[in-house]
Amino acid sequence: MNSISVAGVEIPTGHLINGHRIDSVRTLRNTSPIDGQFLGDFSSGGAGEIDLAVNAARVAFPAWRDLGPSGRGEILEKLATLIEENVETLAQIETLDNGALLRSHRKGVMPRAAANIRFFAEWAKEQLKHEPFETRGHINNVSWDPSGVAALITPWNAPLMLATWKIGPALAAGDTVILKPAEWTPLSASFFADLTMKAGMPPGVFNVVFGPGEEAGAALTKHPGISRISFTGSVPTAKIIAKAAAENLTPITLELGGKSPLIVLEDADLELAATLAIEQYDNAGQVCLSGTRLLVHEKVVDDFTRLFVDKASRINQGDPRHEETQVGPQIHPDHLARIEGFVERARKEGADIVLGGKPNEQLGGLFYQPTLVMKPNPESEIFREEVFGPVLCLQTFANDEQALAMANDTEFGLAAVVVSGRREHAAKITKNLVAGTIWVNCFFVRDLRAPFGGSKKSGIGRDGGTWSFDFYADVKNTVVAPHGWKE
Ligand code: NAD
Repeated sequence: MNSISVAGVEIPTGHLINGHRIDSVRTLRNTSPIDGQFLGDFSSGGAGEIDLAVNAARVAFPAWRDLGPSGRGEILEKLATLIEENVETLAQIETLDNGALLRSHRKGVMPRAAANIRFFAEWAKEQLKHEPFETRGHINNVSWDPSGVAALITPWNAPLMLATWKIGPALAAGDTVILKPAEWTPLSASFFADLTMKAGMPPGVFNVVFGPGEEAGAALTKHPGISRISFTGSVPTAKIIAKAAAENLTPITLELGGKSPLIVLEDADLELAATLAIEQYDNAGQVCLSGTRLLVHEKVVDDFTRLFVDKASRINQGDPRHEETQVGPQIHPDHLARIEGFVERARKEGADIVLGGKPNEQLGGLFYQPTLVMKPNPESEIFREEVFGPVLCLQTFANDEQALAMANDTEFGLAAVVVSGRREHAAKITKNLVAGTIWVNCFFVRDLRAPFGGSKKSGIGRDGGTWSFDFYADVKNTVVAPHGWKE
């Protein structure tokens, strides 16, 4: 079994299939975005490894299904406790691997990963009950039955948090699982795989296969042995996955990108608005929910911009392991080049870049300066496409109707932020905003009971509460007649 030593722990670099670590001949090189440090070579799987994993998950399925919500819940709760006990290690390895802030991993992200597992284990035991109802003396019994093998494909921007957000409900629902993590961030998934074994999860219930999307991911989504595909990632990949799923009519859920608006109404508390706008640079802008289009009422734009630029120019960019750092590096040289491409093309088109607009030369490496583009052409790609970096655009509006029209004038519909001083005014705007999640005078407040997902090209389906189980389970109605009984 191959492994690497990272942050004081030994992490296997092979897949976990049927409770065993399996190394592939081919490998993927893994480096840290913080300083380019070589972290290790991870196994790179393809159709062969996926086939082994799907078969293992299919064999493990009936016994896992038959454990029922309480039996599964006991193991899942142990798993959640193990994550909690290993928050520090998980935070350290995730930061090394994806460059997001260590303090957010410690305080928010890793505890949330544990909560993702515990919440759905409890929900499956307590909430998945539907009162029987009668039709002309016949009784309807609605149940959520395990569906089989769930294929879970995840991105690199919040690797373990996003993976557990799928693993929790899938396993609690009684499905067995194959996780295909993003190729740039395999570490936390491998450490987590060890925790599933320590929690007593039977072999084959949770499997992880590392490898490129075009090989391991494609083989997984095409496989006829899977019953669900849950994907978080980009729109172009989602289109490929939707086509693969269509072949076997496998149900899919897609959590995709966004170009969300942050709307500052004329009655907004501008200090609050500027603070919320600064939060859109979190995780170096590599957040699907980020409100990257700042739409500001023309009467307050000067005051807002002054407050915003003042805060933005004081942002502490640097090593994500340091407590005072607010913005860390981008994930990978290819991704940095993509961000630079967007900004350079905008510059050539004459965009007014009032802040940042280039890599941070002092820090070097993968650090890109927090950037603000003023009033770009509303048809330009920088205003329409997801940059997925620390690049915000600002536009002004003259009235509510215009604000709403601008906010909805996008192919995405993931999230929106509205900043207003009057409840009625905010409600007037939120009513017709097209987005899966809207925050009013706040950002990133999340509750696992709430639905989460995107409208339009930001996705298909919703996670959270019973919505997750509606996807991972087969919802069944058993109608029992009053007649025909011999007892
Ligand atoms: P990506 O689409 O490039 O990759 C995501 C995953 O898909 C990776 O594991 C990758 O290996 C796999 N993949 C790639 N090609 C595949 C194929 N042909 N078949 C099967 N799998 C394949 O996305 P990314 O760059 O890793 O992540 C960034 C994107 O994710 C952004 O668009 C961001 O908005 C989105 N995202 C959305 C949410 C959400 O909840 N809506 C959350 C986080 C990130």
